Amino acid sequence: MNRFAVAAASSLAEAAAGASATVANAMTVPPEGHGYSEVSVIKAGGIDLLDLIKEGLLAPSKVVNLKDVPGLDGVAEEADGGLRIGPMATLASLAAHPKVRADYPALADALGDSASPQIRNVATLGGNLLQRPRCWYLRSHAFRCLRKGGGHCFAIHGENQYHAIFNNMPCAIVHPSTAATALVALGATVEITGAAGTARRLLLENFFVPAERDMQRENDLGPREILTAIRLPKLAASVRMAYIKQGEKDSFDWPLADVAAVLDVDSRGVCRHASLVLGAAAPVPYRAGTAEAALTGKRVDEAVARQAARAALDGATPLSKNAYKLPLFEALVRRAIVKAGG
Ligand SMILES: Cc1cc2nc3c(=O)[nH]c(=O)nc-3n(C[C@H](O)[C@H](O)[C@H](O)COP(=O)(O)OP(=O)(O)OC[C@H]3O[C@@H](n4cnc5c(N)ncnc54)[C@H](O)[C@@H]3O)c2cc1C
Ligand code: SF4
Repeated sequence: MNRFAVAAASSLAEAAAGASATVANAMTVPPEGHGYSEVSVIKAGGIDLLDLIKEGLLAPSKVVNLKDVPGLDGVAEEADGGLRIGPMATLASLAAHPKVRADYPALADALGDSASPQIRNVATLGGNLLQRPRCWYLRSHAFRCLRKGGGHCFAIHGENQYHAIFNNMPCAIVHPSTAATALVALGATVEITGAAGTARRLLLENFFVPAERDMQRENDLGPREILTAIRLPKLAASVRMAYIKQGEKDSFDWPLADVAAVLDVDSRGVCRHASLVLGAAAPVPYRAGTAEAALTGKRVDEAVARQAARAALDGATPLSKNAYKLPLFEALVRRAIVKAGG
């Protein structure tokens, strides 16, 4: 582990100015070999950031802490009835937040099912959305894979049991954020603020960057940019939802597969609109469009849920060691639809 300076930013402008590179940029190894460039990077709770530094995958000269920047950890109801969440709000505080539990229970469940109680008390929602993937080749400095600027994906024909079953060429990571599965299904937006104070707002779904667009980053955050808010829209009273996760065992590890279902169902039980998102399935949270179409206009019952669950796997291209995810996802999608629609 290298020595690095620690600075506490006291304003947003100071924090953005201090983010000379994103962590994804800073982990890309130059073709001439090892030696990650000296950079200054942002720290929130520090769970993922310090892990990468300790593993020798990142060698910043400075770490800029967001903790003292005012206004980044609040949760407030907006004038239109939606919810604005500061990126420094912890996973534990959000999982227990009365408004999140009442209006967005799929998110409360996803947050409450992430990691361990100790980690949830420190980890922030912003850091969770921006954490780097868990691919063990990415996380080992013995492998300079495509995502780190190398020329080869070691997972495609290697140890790929935890990898993607959709859109897995040329890189087969799965997006690591459990919260993202629920947030994308709920139609969340994010606000990104640059050093000049100008903010841009985009759908979280569009903030994530598919591997075929750019393999060296998972999101659209640039240098000198700070994630300043996550917003949830107000949902109609007829919207129902469910989040279901399956882990390898009942422990604090990332899910093998997880599903969020958000259904707008009329008084006859007919689905007017469906949002179905699969986590741990693809390099970005995966929207199961064919399954959404299979649900829309139908009365939500067990038979329709089964049909939609089969449709959710359309286009899957499992790798040598992860075909077990197909029946797993089929079962989780069916259960999530029945739970949300019932
Ligand atoms: C044992 C274990 C189990 C876990 N299980 C799960 C799980 O089941 N599901 C899950 O989703 N996660 C899981 N995690 C991951 C954990 O939740 C994340 O590492 C954590 O949420 C990251 O948040 P943080 O606040 O610590 O971010 P940090 O580590 O401080 O930052 C993460 C990244 O975000 C950047 N960053 C943070 N905030 C901002 C901001 N506002 N603006 C710009 N850049 C920013 C940092 O520069 C860094 O690149 C697990 C972790 C461990 C150790
Ligand atoms: S899946 Fe992606 S991150 Fe993992 S080895 Fe392949 S290119 Fe690298």
